[in-house]
Amino acid sequence: MDSRATPGGMARRTFLAASLSGLAAVALASCTSPEPSPTPRPTSTPSATPTPTPTPPAGGVPTPTAMRRSRWGTDPFARGSFSFDAVGADRRLREALAQPVADRLLIAGEACDPESPGTLHGAQASGFHAAEELIRLGEPGERVAVVGAGIAGLTAARALLEAGFEVVVIEARGRVGGRVDSVDADGFDKPLQLGAMFVSDDALRGALAEASVATVPFRPVVEARTPSGVPAPIPPTGAEAVAAAQAWAAAQQRDVSLATALVDSGVVPLVGGPDGAGVTPGEWLAHTIVSEVQPATGATTAQVSALGYDAERRQQPTRLITGRLADYVDSLASTADIAVSSVVTRIAYNDRRVSLRLDSGESLTVDRAVVTVPLGVLKTDTLRFSPSLPLRHQRAISMLGMGIVDLVWLRFESAFWRADAATPDPPATTAAAPNVLTLVAADPAVSAWIDVGRGTDEAVLVGVIAAQQATRLEPLDDEEFREAILADLAPYATTPG
Ligand SMILES: Cc1cc2nc3c(=O)[nH]c(=O)nc-3n(C[C@H](O)[C@H](O)[C@H](O)COP(=O)(O)OP(=O)(O)OC[C@H]3O[C@@H](n4cnc5c(N)ncnc54)[C@H](O)[C@@H]3O)c2cc1C
Repeated sequence: MDSRATPGGMARRTFLAASLSGLAAVALASCTSPEPSPTPRPTSTPSATPTPTPTPPAGGVPTPTAMRRSRWGTDPFARGSFSFDAVGADRRLREALAQPVADRLLIAGEACDPESPGTLHGAQASGFHAAEELIRLGEPGERVAVVGAGIAGLTAARALLEAGFEVVVIEARGRVGGRVDSVDADGFDKPLQLGAMFVSDDALRGALAEASVATVPFRPVVEARTPSGVPAPIPPTGAEAVAAAQAWAAAQQRDVSLATALVDSGVVPLVGGPDGAGVTPGEWLAHTIVSEVQPATGATTAQVSALGYDAERRQQPTRLITGRLADYVDSLASTADIAVSSVVTRIAYNDRRVSLRLDSGESLTVDRAVVTVPLGVLKTDTLRFSPSLPLRHQRAISMLGMGIVDLVWLRFESAFWRADAATPDPPATTAAAPNVLTLVAADPAVSAWIDVGRGTDEAVLVGVIAAQQATRLEPLDDEEFREAILADLAPYATTPG
């Protein structure tokens, strides 16, 4: 039994712009587009990533030969993709959430890491931190339950085992890994990641290499096109507007949302007319929000703290995971006793012990416990604590945000979106060829398309769907969903005119 789904049971073994609030969106639209937008036209300004004219496949966007999608928002054991700093939240809330409760209970997971929340290495750091705290509070030989077999839980379990504790990991799913989900999907030659797919931390990268999980350097080269297929060089307008709003917010008495900061600072309305591609400054700000802020947070600018949004984190060097990330999880899990398909529904604690009740009706009493269920789950009442968690923990759970980002993997017969796909001799442009495709002056369902197959010539795109678009699309069946997202690729299937 490993990260692949297994039959249920108490199995054991020794051994994953539009986001402005309505008000702000109206403000943005009304203030930046006083006149009807002129018909977009080809730019005369040289593109940052000049590309030859792509050859359109017959009939516009071809039908994908395979598709696989995630639904993290409605996943009962995630209730979202990763945490973000909502208005009023900061690192102190994450530190508070990681504080021991009655010296018996520790909460861990990506949301508890103040340095790198929402990441694999943040989850790992939190798992280490919880284990260290527990080792400080307890004695070797004590029985510890770890709730959740994601990176945080498995990291904590391994460190506690090494320190001489007796550990049992209790996992709700029929597999380990949590938000690390490597899938062998029909129609794809390689395993695909439905959760984390990039790694930026050097130590973790080293650990992945040791577990034989392949990664390749990934430097985003972003292309933007208008709905009519015109490539539009991306100016700094949107990023500068966000930075100016954040600078204004830093001088205020109270934290505000990024949407409020953009409007109340006077940054919006952005002045100036359309550029050579026919795109207005306001449309470029919307592009930054849709293609950068929303995928990084899984939230709208009305939800995200103006101060908490960290634009620089996106600039860190990163590697694309091309191997099976779950192999790393399996290596972490190899020495732990893990009960899968076991949902913890109640945790009762006092200053002497912790009792856990499972959905099967079974219960378990241990000396201490580490609870690594996602923040989204802690926000629901599917897991109850008795007595209730201390107020500082409750406050952190309520004030931190849980964002939603979904991924959709599409495979096509040919990479129609690659400008050099039909070019017999394209070396001059290949090096800086775009590997992230976006739309501007549009309201796309997909924030960005990542061309993950470029290095290997495979015709595979990963669509990143964030915030309110993820919420809107998750309930759709596969056919409706496919129709909704493929429309966003039309500008990449037409000849720029
Ligand atoms: C779409 C997406 C893309 C991402 N991209 C990246 C990326 O590129 N790079 C990066 O570094 N990070 C990325 N992340 C974030 C990263 O995946 C997470 O931060 C990390 O995996 C979280 O680990 P964790 O152990 O804290 O939580 P989880 O992995 O969620 O583990 C918690 C475990 O608790 C279990 N559980 C829940 N409820 C119960 C219960 N009641 N009883 C028992 N068990 C329960 C869950 O099933 C789960 O296995 C991404 C996440 C998503 C969803």
